[in-house]
Amino acid sequence: MADLQGNQAQLPQGCYKCNRQGSIKNKRFVWVPPWTFVFLLGGVFLMAIPYLFFKRIVRVQYTVCQKHNTRHKLAIAAAWLSFSAIICCIILELFTLMLPLLVFMVVSIVVASDSLRITKMGEGRIWLAGCGPEFRKLLPAWQASEIPSPKGSGG
Ligand SMILES: [Zn+2]
Repeated sequence: MADLQGNQAQLPQGCYKCNRQGSIKNKRFVWVPPWTFVFLLGGVFLMAIPYLFFKRIVRVQYTVCQKHNTRHKLAIAAAWLSFSAIICCIILELFTLMLPLLVFMVVSIVVASDSLRITKMGEGRIWLAGCGPEFRKLLPAWQASEIPSPKGSGG
């Protein structure tokens, strides 16, 4: 959970997976209430109406270390690569290769989607999923206080 300031939220320092040092990122999230997905049953266009009315754009500042940043990018690249390979297999009619490629693609997507995401949004607060256990351990102490200034977090 993180406090929102306007449309911005700031996570404590440390990689959101392993709590090591890393580079600070700013990511733009678009969030809609989960019930709006019911409208998808009526088609994408029907979904667009509540989507446009209720969507919220939040900027989250977080830290990610080199290792987890690379892992995330590799997983996305692997997913696209295997997707392209599947298309090639369809064109070349290499259907025996498709199943392992499909499995590989699903695994890549699972790994890639295990990144920071918003699960819930409340008044001035957001709930985030995808953080690692090392990072979560640090959260209760942080929640009890104000957002720490970088110079105060020595150690
Ligand atoms: Zn990390």
